[in-house]
Amino acid sequence: MSSELDSILRSPKAYLWARKAIEAMETHRVWPTALNFELWLHYVAAKDSEVAAEINTVINSGEHFTDQMGEEIASHHLPAAKLSGEILTAGKNLSKELDVVSRAIETARETSELYGQQLATASQSLGEQGDQSVRTMVETLSNATQKVREENQALETQLADTTDELGRLREHLEQVRRDAMTDALTMLSNRKAFDESLERACEASDARGAPLTLAVVDIDHFKMFNDTWGHQTGDQVIRYVASVIGRVGGEGVRFSARYGGEEFAVIFPGERSDVALAALEQAREEISSRTLKRRSTNEDLGAITISTGIAEHRRGDPPVALLESADGALYASKRAGRNRTSLADIGSSTRAA
Ligand code: C2E
Repeated sequence: MSSELDSILRSPKAYLWARKAIEAMETHRVWPTALNFELWLHYVAAKDSEVAAEINTVINSGEHFTDQMGEEIASHHLPAAKLSGEILTAGKNLSKELDVVSRAIETARETSELYGQQLATASQSLGEQGDQSVRTMVETLSNATQKVREENQALETQLADTTDELGRLREHLEQVRRDAMTDALTMLSNRKAFDESLERACEASDARGAPLTLAVVDIDHFKMFNDTWGHQTGDQVIRYVASVIGRVGGEGVRFSARYGGEEFAVIFPGERSDVALAALEQAREEISSRTLKRRSTNEDLGAITISTGIAEHRRGDPPVALLESADGALYASKRAGRNRTSLADIGSSTRAA
């Protein structure tokens, strides 16, 4: 939160702004989540802020302000979210620097070893001369060589320890980076990882002229389901669907992510929409035919179904165009009665048997 806004919220006007923010959210039918509340406080109390400007753009466009839009705005403008992005970038850069240092240390280690060997060879060949003065010289050199070798040995041990420590540090940074890219509930990649992956996939597809397909998946009637069975069971359903969607992604170049609350996405680099359609239809059938139980009572949770939209990337289009296109197909699936997979553009739709 900006320090200016922070001071407003510690002033006598604080409750007035809080009420105004809630009123504004109600007017624009925005859920009063903690994140939305923070954003809409900017809207009412810090009208010149970048956050307020972003919200105004959405309102003026006539679009409905979704949680997803809120997350997007927060990731760009709220200090905490911005900071975590910056930490990640710093971590990435540090990791690269560590690589360079490790390589330099390794080269130094090899050079010192070679030096030791050269000294040993020189000492040996000098030792073969018969003359007393030469023998004394050889002895002195040999002692000096031994000392240098011992010092090199100590240095090598030190360098090896440092290299190990750098390796551990790098692994730790990688783990932090992986955690920041992973959704903790499902262990699938999160939205941030997905955005980056989609951007890279679009660039690669444009560069090679290769096909690229995107599928977006939404659990049907999830809110109603959550209200009926509670959040804990709702989370289990998300985990179950995530496990199936994760398998669609597999271990290869495909990429599965939890894109939002009950929304998932799968990127299919190098594959056309017919392949994605077959994979998602299989997932849809698998999910709708499984009977999930409420763990605490063993009650049958009823049918869990998913709706999916699939679109192919058009060369040169930005990632957002592909997302919009797949989203459009997803809403076509929803409008047509859910539990379906629809293709963008072609408009064809398949339905549960
Ligand atoms: P989880 O509870 O951590 O289970 C992970 C995996 O362990 C499951 O993957 C499944 O392969 C296995 N497993 C766990 N409990 C059982 C069981 O009672 N019988 C059998 N045969 N296997 C079991 P799966 O099936 O992909 O599910 C992933 C996650 O989805 C589960 O994580 C859980 O959070 C949720 N889930 C799946 N089925 C149900 C269900 O019937 N009720 C509820 N509440 N959650 C479920």
